[in-house]
Amino acid sequence: MRVAVIGAGIVGVTTAQALHEDGHEVTVFERQGSVATESSFANAGWLAPGYVTPWAAPGMLRKVLGQWFARDAAVHLAGLPGPALAGWLWRWWRACHPRTYAANRGAMLALARDSLQRTNALAAARGIEHERGKGVLVLLRGEAELAQSRPGLKVLAELGVNFHLISEAQCRQVEPALDTGTALKAGIHLPDAESGNCRQFALELKAALQQAGVAFRLHHTVKRLESVASGVTVHAEADTTSGAVTVQPESTPAQEQFDAVVVCAAMGAPALLPALRLPLQPVYGYSVTLPVQRHDGYPDLGPRAALMDERYKVAITRLGERVRIAGSAELAGDPKALRDAPLATLYRVLQDWFPSAARQSSAQTWKGARPMLPDGPPAIGPSGTPGVWINTGHGSSGWALACGSARLLADMVAGRAPALDPAPFSPLRWGRG
Ligand SMILES: Cc1cc2nc3c(=O)[nH]c(=O)nc-3n(C[C@H](O)[C@H](O)[C@H](O)COP(=O)(O)OP(=O)(O)OC[C@H]3O[C@@H](n4cnc5c(N)ncnc54)[C@H](O)[C@@H]3O)c2cc1C
Repeated sequence: MRVAVIGAGIVGVTTAQALHEDGHEVTVFERQGSVATESSFANAGWLAPGYVTPWAAPGMLRKVLGQWFARDAAVHLAGLPGPALAGWLWRWWRACHPRTYAANRGAMLALARDSLQRTNALAAARGIEHERGKGVLVLLRGEAELAQSRPGLKVLAELGVNFHLISEAQCRQVEPALDTGTALKAGIHLPDAESGNCRQFALELKAALQQAGVAFRLHHTVKRLESVASGVTVHAEADTTSGAVTVQPESTPAQEQFDAVVVCAAMGAPALLPALRLPLQPVYGYSVTLPVQRHDGYPDLGPRAALMDERYKVAITRLGERVRIAGSAELAGDPKALRDAPLATLYRVLQDWFPSAARQSSAQTWKGARPMLPDGPPAIGPSGTPGVWINTGHGSSGWALACGSARLLADMVAGRAPALDPAPFSPLRWGRG
């Protein structure tokens, strides 16, 4: 079949890969000049199935409200919610019910496990280097964090996730450069979890796909999808200028017909599928990426792999010769405006744990949107419009879920029974407008 993929974030590129693997003729449309420039650009890089979990969880509302007025609160609501966000919050709150949470968490974990295997298999097959790190360590600063983590550990055990609750001394063996001046009570070590550079993976996979014959129409914004008797017409507009630079996009007709279309456009998806009324909201987060500082005659003073400061919900990830700190959840607000408070928290957490690890003068700051559905699982499957499929809404775990989601979607497009139950991921689970 001729299949179009709309959007070349990590989800779109891996979807193109799965469809190409199945023998389809694939064309990817992307409004930006490169792949992985939006949500997939500088995320924390975690590929940790045990931590792929719905944000709609029992007790979450109490937790969020409890730290509402703290300057370093992990969650921030910028202004009063409009009707769309209010509706989303209502659905989110309803999905916090223990039974709903348990079902969604189980489904997301199964998808994340499958995805991690596929990510590594794909990297090996294509020779992709993505600054892979092994193991994740969650830092519990004090008694309070240890006590709060206990119910979560019970769930991890029930789900069969391999983890160890370890002492301060054991944490320092896992991450020898952890600063001794910062109080540390204990840690949760997940030795099978991983981390890696999402953007690099997407860029390398795109290059391999292009060589294999997948067409990438960059600088092409899809304006509209039209279902016709013989397939779907993609109405796209090529941008001929990008800033001050004139670019020459591959010559493309404004309208092109395909047998099927897969929308992987994240925050751009609702506009392309208005009838679906996908309850998608951006939950903004921040990251700062810094080069590792080398000190002559001293060992590496940076992290070895990935860590999470549980008190501040800040991730610290080693990515090759760089360190990335990431966190914060901002609802509403300006996608481009960088607030000082979350950035200060990121720097503070890095300073607390790895004060000599990185050169702060060369920091790269980023704000990105997590494309978040209220209940947790992404939307993967038929969109309700004939010939149009969707694979989007991966929230805080798009990198960890990308390769598994791509396979699930491609199996459905091929009419094959997927290895995982697709029901929890149905894009039609909120009904159709
Ligand atoms: C601070 C932060 C930390 C995170 N940490 C992690 C982590 O550790 N692990 C993890 O798994 N996930 C993490 N995430 C989440 C992850 O980054 C996202 O879930 C993932 O990048 C979403 O990928 P995507 O391909 O769906 O979206 P995107 O990367 O945004 O891709 C969508 C693409 O569609 C294009 N597009 C949209 N509309 C159109 C249109 N009409 N025509 C053409 N193109 C269009 C856009 O330009 C874009 O390139 C984090 C996110 C943030 C913000």
